[in-house]
Amino acid sequence: MRNVAIVGAGLAGFSVARRLRELDYTGAITLFGDEGALPYDRPPLSKGSLKASVDASGATLRPSEFFEENQIALRPSEPVLGIDTTARTLQLRGEAFAFDALVLATGATPRALPNAIIRGLHGVHGLRTLADAQRISQAFGTAQHALIVGGGYIGLEVAAAAAERGLRVTLIEAGPRILGRVAGPPTADAIRAAHKRKGVDIREGVGLSALVGTDQVKGAILSDGAHVAADCVIVGIGIDPNVTLAKSAGLATENGILVDPTCQTSQPGIWAAGDCAAFPMADQITRLESVGNAIEMGEVVAANIMGQSRPYAPTAWFWSDQFDLKLQMVGLSPGYDRIVTRPGVNPDAISHWYYAGERLLSVDIINEPKTYIIAKRLIETGKSPPPAQIADQSVNLKVLLKS
Ligand SMILES: Cc1cc2nc3c(=O)[nH]c(=O)nc-3n(C[C@H](O)[C@H](O)[C@H](O)COP(=O)(O)OP(=O)(O)OC[C@H]3O[C@@H](n4cnc5c(N)ncnc54)[C@H](O)[C@@H]3O)c2cc1C
Repeated sequence: MRNVAIVGAGLAGFSVARRLRELDYTGAITLFGDEGALPYDRPPLSKGSLKASVDASGATLRPSEFFEENQIALRPSEPVLGIDTTARTLQLRGEAFAFDALVLATGATPRALPNAIIRGLHGVHGLRTLADAQRISQAFGTAQHALIVGGGYIGLEVAAAAAERGLRVTLIEAGPRILGRVAGPPTADAIRAAHKRKGVDIREGVGLSALVGTDQVKGAILSDGAHVAADCVIVGIGIDPNVTLAKSAGLATENGILVDPTCQTSQPGIWAAGDCAAFPMADQITRLESVGNAIEMGEVVAANIMGQSRPYAPTAWFWSDQFDLKLQMVGLSPGYDRIVTRPGVNPDAISHWYYAGERLLSVDIINEPKTYIIAKRLIETGKSPPPAQIADQSVNLKVLLKS
């Protein structure tokens, strides 16, 4: 390969470019982005960045010199409009760009509320980009009452940030409980309790029926008929993978750009990584939306462009910061039939271990990074300590790693 093109200058695209150079790839690398910025990290956008004015430079993954020194041609304001898989060219605004290998790292787009609900009202925000975070942070400066739609991680983090900025906060979750898709009931209970202590009004099993206001949003009518005040609405109801480019080029898609175990799409020499990519894992097609996935999948793609034929077999991991809670998760819990609780060393720390029979599937850890490190090692190495030992605080977890 002499000419690698990467579409999407987010974390996954950046990870491919960086790892190619680390693997001594000497050909050309071109990284196409459409946000007009250096690649940056998204996690701070729903955490510290919302607490004050958003600083664009803080989240940048590397300074511009990194791209020059590593001869990565960054084109941050160059949306790729099409792919000709036969001619092996990308269609740009004014040129066709030839590639030998292509990586699609196009990310995802937040789901929006239906137009019939938004009705063009000002004050309704989604959160994916730095520009979104800057708008929300600014709105928090003058708003009195935030309504957060969606009780996933982003919604809960934004709710925490809004409460810390002094706003009155209502969060609604249409499903039966917060974090229904991503964490077990005891973890959701701990997070709910923390929000309650800080005055966030969480309403579960409640959807949004209408927004109230003429020009600027003023409030909302909920599915249970309740009215709430809201001069700022943040929508965190999930994301859809960006597959349009892949689909119109004839690549296979299924809730993401479909890839094989080596991250190659249905077209040889075209790869996908990050939030946009759906890959086989444990007999299922999986898509992960996390920093860990973007970095590690990008690195595997780079290795495979270099001919290593490495399968992508990740251990899922994630974290979330809300108020004084640091939540860390490793593994995937679907299929669990038992939850084992391990009290932490400090009263504000706890971990929940999800088992299917005797097999450990995943662990959620609150405020105990040392336990997370061991739990991650256990999951990565496929070890399943007996549940009774996990529940026994006197058992040193490090010992379980060695057994
Ligand atoms: C607010 C927020 C907080 C988060 N917090 C956490 C967290 O705490 N922990 C965690 O693990 N994960 C977190 N995540 C998720 C994590 O940030 C994502 O999983 C990760 O950024 C995915 O990287 P990506 O490169 O696949 O996609 P993206 O970061 O979305 O990058 C894709 C890029 O491609 C561009 N693009 C798309 N189409 C084209 C095109 N045709 N031409 C050119 N460019 C194009 C997009 O505009 C975008 O810039 C968070 C995400 C958000 C939004």
